Amino acid sequence: MTESTTAAVLAPARTTALEVHGLDAWYGEAQALRDVSIQIHEGEVATLVGRNGAGKTTLLRSIMGLHRKVRGTVTFRGRDVSHQGPHRRARAGLGWVPDDRGIYSSLSVLENLTMSPVVDRKAAWSLDRIFEHFPVLHTRRNFPGSKLSGGEQQMLAMARPLRMGSSLLLLDEPSEGLAPVIVQQIEGIIHEIRQSGTSVLLVEQNVHFASAVADRHYLLAQGRIVESLDAAEFRSRTGELLEHLGM
Ligand code: ATP
Repeated sequence: MTESTTAAVLAPARTTALEVHGLDAWYGEAQALRDVSIQIHEGEVATLVGRNGAGKTTLLRSIMGLHRKVRGTVTFRGRDVSHQGPHRRARAGLGWVPDDRGIYSSLSVLENLTMSPVVDRKAAWSLDRIFEHFPVLHTRRNFPGSKLSGGEQQMLAMARPLRMGSSLLLLDEPSEGLAPVIVQQIEGIIHEIRQSGTSVLLVEQNVHFASAVADRHYLLAQGRIVESLDAAEFRSRTGELLEHLGM
């Protein structure tokens, strides 16, 4: 056995959490995604980056089953979920964190956290664990959603699928509209989520934030994946990306 085959045998197998293959999506007659293929490994954080209108949100919504005018396959934890609706995909472990954060404004933080069903008892974070990682949600636990700041809402929106036991979070622009100090806190939380073994796919316009949190980056332009970069490649091209992608 050669050295390289020994290494291949000894290296821990990386399990694919999510595989999107040959995905096309339309709004009416207008095609928004073209032949998109991406792969996220278990415990990996990946970003979708690109200009406004590149198709990032459409891809995230298509993975969740919220955008239905699509062709291609979405395989999650080895199961083809392409024909399943968003509720079944959520039960399979996909956690959705929309850009408007989707907080119920008249319900308390605690009610927002506990109203969705637990989908995986073993993976679900207990309330104690949620409050340990998101102390502000403990402080605000009896506040209605409407009284939370943008950063607090973002934390609640991210905590909700962790409480449900989702194994892959889909985050649409988690840093959008937040003060730098809050963006740093969100960065820290994404690192903790990754350490817990949960995978994350996030849409991000903020190159510095994307670079700080992710292992892999998919660049989208006009509905196509134009590059897949690992963390080091992305970091070394930050200046170019800022200039050419207008991010
Ligand atoms: P942004 O950062 O501005 O949200 P994005 O990369 O997420 O951009 P999408 O929102 O996915 O891009 O949009 C992809 C394309 O689909 C764009 O050309 C956009 O104009 C179009 N599009 C998005 N939503 C709709 C809609 N509801 N109806 C028609 N076209 C849409």
